[in-house]
Amino acid sequence: MTNEVLMGHLSWTAYDRRVKEDNPAVLIPVGSLEQHGPHLPLSTDALIPAAISAEVARRTRSLVAPAIAYGYKSLPRSGGGQHFPGTTSLDGATLIAELEDIVREFARHGVRKLAFVVGHLENQYFVTEACDLALRALKGHGVHDMRIMQIEYWNFTSPEVAKQVWPGGFDSWALEHAGIMETSVMLHFHPELVDMTQVPEHPPARFATYEMWPYDTNRVPWSGIHNTAKGATAEKGRLFADEYIEKLSEAIVEEFGTPKC
Ligand SMILES: [Zn+2]
Repeated sequence: MTNEVLMGHLSWTAYDRRVKEDNPAVLIPVGSLEQHGPHLPLSTDALIPAAISAEVARRTRSLVAPAIAYGYKSLPRSGGGQHFPGTTSLDGATLIAELEDIVREFARHGVRKLAFVVGHLENQYFVTEACDLALRALKGHGVHDMRIMQIEYWNFTSPEVAKQVWPGGFDSWALEHAGIMETSVMLHFHPELVDMTQVPEHPPARFATYEMWPYDTNRVPWSGIHNTAKGATAEKGRLFADEYIEKLSEAIVEEFGTPKC
């Protein structure tokens, strides 16, 4: 058996053999193409779950499908909004339809264990909707045994790690867009893609507790990030990444019974 975990690197015959012989879980990172401040690349939300998933797959004998490169729209209070150059987003209905199609195709291959590993906060409910609609449609076609996990990897952050990284207290994941966590994790997995000299200096963004449409772009910091990423390090990134990989692997084994290796 090959040790390759990236589905896109396998031939169709090798993939088919893996699916038939091992009944592996298939992890699908769901990212975005979205501004992440002047210091991180636009594909940050796809690169992080892809890197985590590859390591999880090695530990759980799973496979990783190519990441979904585009996500739902960037919202002003979590991703900075849609007005930034480079941010390239899908309508909710498009994302749902894309994910539904993908679930149907994996079902056709014989895969019955899928895990969407979400890397972009705004994708969450569209992934949920796609899972619901896809399972409903599969049942109509006689497939009753497909199971899908939906994972927002940052939810695996333990209070202990959060305390270590944010001794002054943690704000919120929305305000963490391109902040300490994402920057540190990128420094761990892809240091060549991070430019720490470009981390902006402005104070944390303060938003209203409601949304106005159309939103006022002047209320969004010019840099596109809400909280400082100063203090991000590869060491902190490893702390986060180790925890995500360990706990996600445990969750995969618990839900899908895949032997850990
Ligand atoms: Zn992000």
